[in-house]
Amino acid sequence: GVPILLHIVFFQAAASPPTSNFLLLGPSGSGKTALTTLLEAKSSPLSKKTHTTHTSQTSTLVSVSLPPTVPTASNRYRSVNDPSLKEAQRNPIRYRVKDTPGHGKLRTTQGIAQLQSMSVAKDAAHKLRGVIFMVDTAALVDEAVLRDTASYLHDVLLVLQKRELNKSSSKRLSEIPVLVAANKQDLFTALPPGSVKEKLEAEIDRIRKSKTKGLLDASADPGLDNDEDVLGNDDAQGTFSFNLLQVEAGIKVDVVGGAVKDDPAEEFGSGVRRWEEWVGMCL
Ligand code: GDP
Repeated sequence: GVPILLHIVFFQAAASPPTSNFLLLGPSGSGKTALTTLLEAKSSPLSKKTHTTHTSQTSTLVSVSLPPTVPTASNRYRSVNDPSLKEAQRNPIRYRVKDTPGHGKLRTTQGIAQLQSMSVAKDAAHKLRGVIFMVDTAALVDEAVLRDTASYLHDVLLVLQKRELNKSSSKRLSEIPVLVAANKQDLFTALPPGSVKEKLEAEIDRIRKSKTKGLLDASADPGLDNDEDVLGNDDAQGTFSFNLLQVEAGIKVDVVGGAVKDDPAEEFGSGVRRWEEWVGMCL
């Protein structure tokens, strides 16, 4: 009787509804819709469902599954002979991705607003496990695109930093790591992830320095204390880096290259594998 009982318990655990939420942010054109469409197609390869390209005015929530061969934080040492791998093949781990419009004004009302509400949610159904910030690495050579992308990412990181600073009052909040999904690596004009990271860091540094200056100029008003409005804490003299942000504010940012577009020589959807591995490590 015992093995059967165990099996039932295990099955129920694996078949429970998805509760891990990821928020998908980034400028429009970076590939967010393409990614959700691909993840959905990968999750149900038989239905070949092509997600109708939604009007990018609202957020959409899709439930997708993690490929069984992608390790998670809890099973990362699992061997190929482990029976739990077979179980995972039958009952893949599911997670939810919330796609948000990345266009100009909608960012504040949709993307940032979603982040603000989801990042403080404590109940399992709404709790945020991670943020995926998509970047078009072929468009980043354009100064205007770089500035726009970096300022959106800056605002995202600032929300997370404020959350960290206010944590003492609500201790039960866990960390929310950020994946910068350096998309479109299939294009030969794409910047490699290392230089995407450098460019974003340098641009965010410029943004926060000019913000600090603005705040100093405005501080003729002694009632104003906007310290927490500056990314990377008080010392804006130093150069901003994601590493510094992790040390100072406990926010982990990883820049990982990938492509939603399939390489015909590779397995379907393999261009997003390293992002799925990042998701797995959050689960
Ligand atoms: P969104 O505005 O962020 O939702 O961006 P979309 O998903 O609509 O993608 C914008 C454009 O980029 C579309 O034409 C996609 O086909 C294209 N695209 C998305 N991902 C990739 C990729 O990895 N490589 C290439 N070459 N094009 C991509």
